[in-house]
Amino acid sequence: MKLCVPDYILSLKPYVAGKPLEELEREFGIKGAVKLASNENPLGPSPMALEAIRRSAENLHRYPNSGSYDLCHHLARQLNIKCENIVLGNGSDDLIAMLARVLLQPGDEAVLPEPSFLFYEIVIQSSGAVPVGIPLKSETTDLDGMLERMGPKTRLVFVNNPHNPTGSLITKQALDAFVEALPANIVLVIDEAYIEFVKDSRCPNSIDYLNSGKTVVGLRTFSKAYGLAGLRIGYGLMPAYFAELLHRVRQPFNVNALAQAAAIAALEDQDFLEKTVRLVNDEMAFMYNALDELDIHYCRSSANFLLIQLNKKADHVFEDLLRQGVIVRSMSSYGYPDCIRVSVGQHHENVRFLAALGKVT
Ligand SMILES: *Cc1c(COP(=O)(O)O)cnc(C)c1O
Repeated sequence: MKLCVPDYILSLKPYVAGKPLEELEREFGIKGAVKLASNENPLGPSPMALEAIRRSAENLHRYPNSGSYDLCHHLARQLNIKCENIVLGNGSDDLIAMLARVLLQPGDEAVLPEPSFLFYEIVIQSSGAVPVGIPLKSETTDLDGMLERMGPKTRLVFVNNPHNPTGSLITKQALDAFVEALPANIVLVIDEAYIEFVKDSRCPNSIDYLNSGKTVVGLRTFSKAYGLAGLRIGYGLMPAYFAELLHRVRQPFNVNALAQAAAIAALEDQDFLEKTVRLVNDEMAFMYNALDELDIHYCRSSANFLLIQLNKKADHVFEDLLRQGVIVRSMSSYGYPDCIRVSVGQHHENVRFLAALGKVT
């Protein structure tokens, strides 16, 4: 059948997710594999969130609250902003898709660091718009290069802070200057998926730009530090006039009832969050030491993952590690043919990864 599918859809490369544990165990016939590929919480979900899910399940015959009312108010209180500045989504991926739907038409341009989170590019291209990638400079987002490349067709700019996959940070000083110089008709998205892990006091917060006079959107997620990746819930922080536009294109019930209940409980479970962040910070230090001893290069990271450079093809290392029951991410599709990205796991998982890596390098 001859369908009229636009070229920009036909040329899309589908997103490749981290390999699921059960898939590896099925394919290789092994048990007890370790997944360090998708930057998930090594401690699992918050116990309080699990309890909230059990309670909320009683009402699954009802539609969820369309605007995630209770959750929105919890967040607003905790962040000291207004509910009208928050839009909830089915993961922050949902927000990224809404942003493109609101802003991008065929022929428009969106500027982003290269490499960065691969879903940005998919969403930009699905709207018929053109992704304009600006290479990193010394593993850091090249904000000046991004500014230079903005033109009359630019509608949207993405940065992620900390940056995925390098873990590098944009400082507040640098971001302040960038927002100041940003043309007022261009929307800046600051994806803060890993912000909870950052220790560096120079790190900016997207909330500080809510009243900057520019349209700045912060993206946050419950998928990483809060341990709820499987539930799919994230949110955007933005000026009220812009939130109103996102609500127009949002699916009416985009955040399911279990996710809303679990997220409220997760926000209240500060102990779990602190435990998670402490574990990641401690284990990150352990990883640095171990990699130094092996004389393996890596980028220092403000997030819960590490970009590691090897003197071998990453795709081969990825396969070798799989055979040893360790799932990491090859960065070849990100333009780093000799790098892997590994999430920081529990201590025994990191030890297992290092031992497996030692055997293949
Ligand atoms: C993991 C991640 C997300 C989170 O996506 P969700 O849809 O909320 O699970 C967003 N942005 C970046 C850069 C990420 O690494």
